[in-house]
Amino acid sequence: MNARHGSGLLLSVVVPAYNEEDVLPDFQRRLVAVLDLLPLDCEIVYVNDGSRDRTLAVLERMRMTDSRVALVDLSRNFGKEAALTAGLDHARGDAVVVIDADLQDPPELIPELVRHWQEGHDVVYAQRSARDGESLAKRITAHVFYRVIERISEVRIPRDTGDFRLLSRRAVDALLQLRERHRFMKGLFAWIGYPQKAVPYRRDPRHAGQTKWNYWRLWNFALEGITSFTTAPLKLATYVGILTATLAFLFGGYIVGATLLLGNPVAGYPSLMAVILFLGGVQLTALGIIGEYLGRLSDEAKGRPLYLVNEHRPAGLAARAPALRPGSLAPPGRRRGDGRGAVMSREEEAHGAPAP
Ligand code: UDP
Ligand code: MG
Repeated sequence: MNARHGSGLLLSVVVPAYNEEDVLPDFQRRLVAVLDLLPLDCEIVYVNDGSRDRTLAVLERMRMTDSRVALVDLSRNFGKEAALTAGLDHARGDAVVVIDADLQDPPELIPELVRHWQEGHDVVYAQRSARDGESLAKRITAHVFYRVIERISEVRIPRDTGDFRLLSRRAVDALLQLRERHRFMKGLFAWIGYPQKAVPYRRDPRHAGQTKWNYWRLWNFALEGITSFTTAPLKLATYVGILTATLAFLFGGYIVGATLLLGNPVAGYPSLMAVILFLGGVQLTALGIIGEYLGRLSDEAKGRPLYLVNEHRPAGLAARAPALRPGSLAPPGRRRGDGRGAVMSREEEAHGAPAP
């Protein structure tokens, strides 16, 4: 069904895309140039994460000109992590490469990822050696974040890695068993274990379009990382509580002693306020920390699916013969009569269920 290259192995490339109309044509061109040289069969699974620009139309057009392109259109914007998971769910390859659409991850690195996979590594991740085009502040915060999470987390999350990586089939299957709603992908990739290998690369500046990150999102991302992979902050709250209680107790003893020995000249107001405000602050912080975990717990308890698919068009259905009109591309029996193309309903809505 796909352009078979003889080796019989299929490589899937999963690309989440949210408002990427400007960059997708260039991305596709560079990606295809790389894939053409690989001795593997390939499919490219684009996930349209509820884009508000013409991304969907651009992807539809690509799918019509290249039979390797598959398209998963989500019902709204679910965020990059969910989009990635949707792509992994729909990828059929013996190995799966996850890559951003904005050309910050160079597709030219894929052959090297594949080589390490063929040497027996299950997870081959690209590790940034330089971050061009990112502000000093972003570089510093990223640096601090990786060091902190390395210290307090229970699994070892490699530094300076994004989502750009190759996963073997068994690594993908393992990853897909982790259906948690708060998906800190870097941590999940590390959690599964298996032989892993780092490949250094230069991270390029965004090619076109806008980054979807701002500092508020980055902060929430960091919170996600910490709360998903460590309960250390909960313990921190306990210890800060014990420490302040001890200090307050000593201070109380001191006041009683001082009053007995020196009398009470009614001067306690400032110190009283200081202690009350301090304790109030500590308590609110501790409550906030508990709240972060509790909120995530309630999200998990709801058990909602990670994403919903509006439409899934697998690869290999587009005919390459130019004589075929767009409306006749999907095979019979899989199409709706409205001429809008294949609407696959098989288990598409059931993604809340754990993968086998
Ligand atoms: N993305 C997505 N859904 C979102 C935000 C981003 O699918 O809600 C995709 C986006 O199209 C891109 C990748 O995730 O392919 C990385 O996004 P971005 O470049 O904005 O993140 P950064 O590189 O700044 O970390
Ligand atoms: Mg980017």
